[in-house]
Amino acid sequence: MFDQSHEIARFLSRTLYYPVVAVFVINLVQRRHMRTGLRKRYATLYLGALLLAFWGATFLLIRFDLGDLFLIPLFLACVAVVLLFRDAILPYRLRCAVCRRRLGPREILFYDSNLCAGCFRENVN
Ligand SMILES: [Zn+2]
Repeated sequence: MFDQSHEIARFLSRTLYYPVVAVFVINLVQRRHMRTGLRKRYATLYLGALLLAFWGATFLLIRFDLGDLFLIPLFLACVAVVLLFRDAILPYRLRCAVCRRRLGPREILFYDSNLCAGCFRENVN
């Protein structure tokens, strides 16, 4: 009745390794900025754990011979977790919270305040 192929699950099990490693490398780099970005460090940890869980689930789908259709509820469950805990998992903002100027990668990844350098100086003083 259902197609039991694992092509998508096999592809994901081979390729999700790289985003998982990238998220955990970013998490290690964030360790240097724990004073200013502890919340974002936890967020990359949660994101990495979620990616790791999804990656592990692809191996389980292949191991227990379940079809690629089971990837859909797994993916939807991951999206639901992200939506439910979006403040904890995705605190990253691309624009300054005060002046709406575009933030650099340093402010996006390492500063919980989501402020550009000018607004950060004003708020500190
Ligand atoms: Zn600003």
